[in-house]
Amino acid sequence: MEGDMPLKCLKCGKTLEKHQCYEHQGNLFCEDCRMDILSPPKACDPWAVHSAQTFLRGKDKLSTLTPLQREIVNYVKGKGEATIEEMMGDLKLPEEALRREFAVLRHMEILKATKKRDKIFYLLF
Ligand SMILES: [Zn+2]
Repeated sequence: MEGDMPLKCLKCGKTLEKHQCYEHQGNLFCEDCRMDILSPPKACDPWAVHSAQTFLRGKDKLSTLTPLQREIVNYVKGKGEATIEEMMGDLKLPEEALRREFAVLRHMEILKATKKRDKIFYLLF
């Protein structure tokens, strides 16, 4: 024994032999920890990725609307809720076309239907 303090890895505390001792910014590390420090694993944040995708989908959702669908959405947005009959009158659209667009908009979770006083009202999802 030479009385020296045994060299220890600062990170994991492993006793280091001279040949497996690495210095990084004035501290000593074993080979594994040094590798960790020099090349930290890529930050993996599935939640952030998920949020970004959801955000993109949300943006895409509205940007992919046809002018007709946008007109319907804006009409409903302006009134808060609207019946097919109101839209047939105000937007001058046939019921069949409106129902077809609603099917799409409902599927895209932009508009939803609710029944009140025996009438179907459409409102924002
Ligand atoms: Zn170590």
